[in-house]
Amino acid sequence: MRILLVEDDALLGDALQVGLRQADHVVDWVRDGISAETALMTGDYAAVVLDLGLPRLDGLDVLRHLRAKKKTLPVLILTARDTVDDRIRGLDAGADDYLVKPFDLGELTARLRALLRRAGGQSSPVLAAGRVTLDPATRRVECDGSEVEVPPKEYALLHALMQQPGRALSRAQLEQHLYAWGDEIGSNAVEVYIHHLRRKLGPDVIRTLRGIGYVVAKAAAKP
Ligand code: CA
Repeated sequence: MRILLVEDDALLGDALQVGLRQADHVVDWVRDGISAETALMTGDYAAVVLDLGLPRLDGLDVLRHLRAKKKTLPVLILTARDTVDDRIRGLDAGADDYLVKPFDLGELTARLRALLRRAGGQSSPVLAAGRVTLDPATRRVECDGSEVEVPPKEYALLHALMQQPGRALSRAQLEQHLYAWGDEIGSNAVEVYIHHLRRKLGPDVIRTLRGIGYVVAKAAAKP
């Protein structure tokens, strides 16, 4: 999923970017509050990891402005401000979760998974669509109970679709999930990845809605 990372500390930001990418996220990294607001206006992010002590505009103000615009994407605050009052202020300003530095990268990525799952309306940690299941914690994809090897870009695309079953995503929206700033985008890359996924998972898991985009069906309710 595409994450906006807002962190002015170069060493920590670099480590976070690497860690989030290893967790199969696409990451755009900005280092001050104004750049964060600009990125949030133009980019389609699944979640924000937000430092509070930032140059130019405090992270709490970035968060308040975001919520004032009725943007509901999950925000995880990552900060050295660790008093109870700080946490209450952060959550009241519209944060969905709060981690105090120093923190464990494994815990950060697990909390992000939980936020993304809830934002997608999913309560179960393993996503399901028809015969296919995807476990964001282990990155394991199964079809009819057998593991299927799925390289990172195909995985990111499948994850984006399975996160919100029944919702069609256009090619441009899917590209947002696959590429960070500065990445080179192949002109028909999305079609190629969809083609590979259909070959591995069967033709009917990802449907094409002509002129609209791609969709995976909602899992049938269990009897
Ligand atoms: Ca800072």
